[in-house]
Amino acid sequence: MLYVVPTPIGNLDDITLRALKVLNEVDLIAAEDTRHTSLLLRHFDINTGMISLHIHNEHQKTYQIISQIKDGKNIALVSNSGTPLINDPGYFLVKYCRLAGIRVVPLPGPCAAITALSSSGLAVNRFCFEGFLPAKKKNRQSLLRKLIEEPRTLIFFESPHRLLDTLLDMVFILGVDRYVVLARELTKIWESIHGLPVGELLEWIKFNKNRYRGEIVLVVEGYKISKKNHKAISNDVKKTLALLQQSLSFKQSIVITAKIYGIKKNYLYKYALEQ
Ligand code: SAM
Repeated sequence: MLYVVPTPIGNLDDITLRALKVLNEVDLIAAEDTRHTSLLLRHFDINTGMISLHIHNEHQKTYQIISQIKDGKNIALVSNSGTPLINDPGYFLVKYCRLAGIRVVPLPGPCAAITALSSSGLAVNRFCFEGFLPAKKKNRQSLLRKLIEEPRTLIFFESPHRLLDTLLDMVFILGVDRYVVLARELTKIWESIHGLPVGELLEWIKFNKNRYRGEIVLVVEGYKISKKNHKAISNDVKKTLALLQQSLSFKQSIVITAKIYGIKKNYLYKYALEQ
């Protein structure tokens, strides 16, 4: 059978007893990076052999692994950290193992997205995981626009060198007040979990370079359907405001739109600025 085995995302003590047992007992470990995993295995005195399975050879290796499992071998799949498949290799292997009638046994264990969510203080009953946002500004902004009215808590992976750009895009598209939790270096020595309205978070981070170093998860509050929000960004309001702005001043168009729809001027002003 194929075991899907999560490994620690920083703190080695987070490996489970079952993960150690499986990694010890299987015939072979399929690892994203064998050099990386060999450090983990050495730490726990595990001598099981490895083959590499990464995004560039996953298709080719999948057939090889399936034929080995069919020959009676048990294989464990691991990635560099956390749960395999979650923004890591393994999807193709698991899919084809299942299609081939091979039993896939998942082990529960570390996952940066869930670890961040559990400490965010944001709603956890419904959430969506978006992985990494696109690297290109245009694509990133367009995805964020699609998510403006997503009511579930949103989870993103982010890299330190794109963090400021992403937060700036969030300010413009989701609004300065959207609450965002920055979960950094989880389970490691410099772990930090800090939440603020995104405009303030951006300022807080800029203040100290150490605040955007290391591995990062962003947990973003879902869209709140308050009466105020709902009215302010409804399509009718947007259209009216845009039409009035063609012939009136910025301020006049806001005052009139606010009167028509009974929205607070300040709120509409903020919205118009964000646009
Ligand atoms: N499969 C992994 C998991 O289940 O957590 C995720 C792999 S993904 C390629 C790597 C990204 O996960 C990092 O860029 C970062 O966004 C996030 N990540 C991984 N470990 C982390 C940690 N200790 N603290 C914060 N974020 C982490």
